[in-house]
Amino acid sequence: MKVAIVGGGVAGLSCAHQLEKYNISYTIFERNNYIGEGIPHVAAFLNILDRTKGDPIKYFRKNYKIKIKELSPLNKIVHHSPNETTILKKSKMGYLVYRGNHENSLKNQIFNQLKNPNIIFSTMGNMDELSKEYDHVIWATGNHYGAWEKGCWQNWVKTIVKGAVIRGNFTMDTLIVWINKDYCKQGYAYLTPIDKKTATLLLIVTDIKEKEMDMYWTRFLETENIRNKILQSFMLEHMAGYCYPRKINNIYFVGNAAGGIDPFLGFGQLNSITQGVMAARSIAKNKSYDKLIDDLVKRNLWMHEFRKKYNKMTNKDYDKLIKAIGTPGIKHAMYYTNMDVVKWGGTSFSIFDKIKNKIL
Ligand SMILES: Cc1cc2nc3c(=O)[nH]c(=O)nc-3n(C[C@H](O)[C@H](O)[C@H](O)COP(=O)(O)OP(=O)(O)OC[C@H]3O[C@@H](n4cnc5c(N)ncnc54)[C@H](O)[C@@H]3O)c2cc1C
Repeated sequence: MKVAIVGGGVAGLSCAHQLEKYNISYTIFERNNYIGEGIPHVAAFLNILDRTKGDPIKYFRKNYKIKIKELSPLNKIVHHSPNETTILKKSKMGYLVYRGNHENSLKNQIFNQLKNPNIIFSTMGNMDELSKEYDHVIWATGNHYGAWEKGCWQNWVKTIVKGAVIRGNFTMDTLIVWINKDYCKQGYAYLTPIDKKTATLLLIVTDIKEKEMDMYWTRFLETENIRNKILQSFMLEHMAGYCYPRKINNIYFVGNAAGGIDPFLGFGQLNSITQGVMAARSIAKNKSYDKLIDDLVKRNLWMHEFRKKYNKMTNKDYDKLIKAIGTPGIKHAMYYTNMDVVKWGGTSFSIFDKIKNKIL
């Protein structure tokens, strides 16, 4: 059996890793001449996003045999809204991992666990040609264009992301988040430390044009009084959406290409790893890919409900939301129980409805 994997990213590499476990041969086609991304950043895994998996690093190791070494555990999250700040402290609320072109980036870590990596760099994969030549094609390009061209994609949320590497003094186990309609509309901004002296700062703004982004960025820095020296910056577009069907004949859509990225925070690492593994299992065991990833799809639908409610909030509601997550009852439920927060938030009587209905 021959499998073509288009995209040597998080999903494609996870798929290759799992195919090796079944002794199935594969060829990865990667358009770049390296593993990783041109843009330097540190990304997060948040346990709260999938309580059914618990600690994601332990889960990957136990269930997929993929070993991930974190840059740092996440022990503190600082949330800012226009007039409120809530600080949550708890050991291992998630993890920070290197991305970009760092030698320990998430992609490099998975790549280095491949026993016989068969990868062709600097090559664009063509879906239709490969589907004739190979038994199966894993379409893991990190974008929605392939599914869009096949007519199986629905846009949910388009965001423009501006990021920068900044200099300053940072704490390794801390994530800082800002929400404010004035500079991120229905998006958000966050800071993740790279080391004690540098960090990545990201601003994610919904439904704007790329040329408008610099104006929002300036407003963000001014509003939050961020004056750190910027060492490098980048801008990109992100699209979250719904893909169906996620398999057409012998073509599997995987990771962001299958709508793996969540439509609320734009997080997609956990889903991309899982979809890559599940596509390989579907091939190896002749099982339904849809059934294997059904749980992820459901979670993203709940996240979409979350998103729709969040979109209706005002800055005053943001203040109430940030205050609410610091109150003992809600904090306890969110961080000290096994409550499935995504399911709860995605169903009708969520914290968002309570705030809107002035119950909180
Ligand atoms: C700035 C930023 C911050 C993020 N932060 C977080 C975070 O904190 N937490 C989180 O969970 N998620 C985060 N995400 C989302 C997460 O990175 C993605 O969901 C995840 O990487 C998707 O994996 P993927 O394999 O689908 O795509 P990618 O990892 O993007 O890999 C796709 C690969 O396909 C290659 N490719 C594309 N087209 C072709 C082609 N035609 N032929 C050959 N190769 C091709 C690309 O070069 C790339 O290597 C972030 C994303 C960005 C951009």
